[in-house]
Amino acid sequence: MSGEFDIIARYFAPLAKDTPLAFGLKDDAAMIAPPKGHHLVVTADAIVEGVHFLHDDPPTRIAQKLLRVNLSDLAAKGATPLGYLLTCAFPPDIDERWISSFAKGLKADQKHFGLGLLGGDTVSSPGPATFGVTMFGAAKGRAMLRRSGAKPGDLLCVTGTIGDGGLGLSELLKPHAGLTDTQRKFLIARYRLPQPRTRIGPLLHGIASAALDVSDGLVQDVGHLAKQSGVRAVIDLASVPLSPAGLVLEKADPDTRRAAIGAGDDYEIAFTIPPKLLKSLQAAAFKARIRVTVIGRVQKGAGVAIALPDGSEIVPERGGFDHFTR
Ligand code: ADP
Ligand code: MG
Repeated sequence: MSGEFDIIARYFAPLAKDTPLAFGLKDDAAMIAPPKGHHLVVTADAIVEGVHFLHDDPPTRIAQKLLRVNLSDLAAKGATPLGYLLTCAFPPDIDERWISSFAKGLKADQKHFGLGLLGGDTVSSPGPATFGVTMFGAAKGRAMLRRSGAKPGDLLCVTGTIGDGGLGLSELLKPHAGLTDTQRKFLIARYRLPQPRTRIGPLLHGIASAALDVSDGLVQDVGHLAKQSGVRAVIDLASVPLSPAGLVLEKADPDTRRAAIGAGDDYEIAFTIPPKLLKSLQAAAFKARIRVTVIGRVQKGAGVAIALPDGSEIVPERGGFDHFTR
């Protein structure tokens, strides 16, 4: 294994060649300037072996997931990605082949999502492999989309489909009956590789009154939005968009839909809009080629409720993933 500086020069410096203010990763720090009329939006996410990925997961995919969880946060704030800092803590069993394919994953997604490496830190670790990314994006004007702007009367919406990540994980643990091979692969891919909604995020400026990244379960995350906005959110269970694979599984097990809104790893955007902007939203969705669905409404009050097809409402107990509650 080469030394720290050879690793940086060989595997990470090439990822900084399109970010001139990273100075080839040959200085102590980098610079970053948002485009004129924009503000910087900053977010960080870390992943740990044994918690967010497994020892034998392919390094390319670990790298892509690391970037994509951060990209999803920026998208939910209406920001366009600019660049990122990368901190790597490598245990002794990680070799150069591993690092090389990790760098390949970073390179592929940098190209796909249009951002570059700005710098970072490389250290050795006696514990599990740990990777942290701090990502910078640009949002037009002074305001990023906040969790706090939802108003009674607004519509609650979501991008894409809900529950696929959770179903993908359960498919890996115990295959479901009745799925085609394509549907199986679709669900597993949704679990392994988030598809951050970077194309529609920036288009939600001027349309969404509040927005957040859905990664810990729709119900729990909509709960965060409701709390920060000081409102009550009602999710219409029947309106929650399931993928074709999700619908197949719902036919076999009607509880699938309830499970879907509690499961994590969606990486969709939940947001609210004033009803009069529904046409503008549909135009934005068409432009971004991303499905958006109205799944409920915002009312006076607090908390989240789930409206069932028979008209009754249930208030869920806490659901979703939390690192420190077991
Ligand atoms: P320091 O001595 O302050 O720890 P380093 O020697 O770790 O600085 O870093 C030297 C350069 O290499 C810096 O520009 C830093 O941003 C960059 N760098 C180090 N590790 C990484 C990494 N994992 N990814 C990207 N850039 C890195
Ligand atoms: Mg260092």
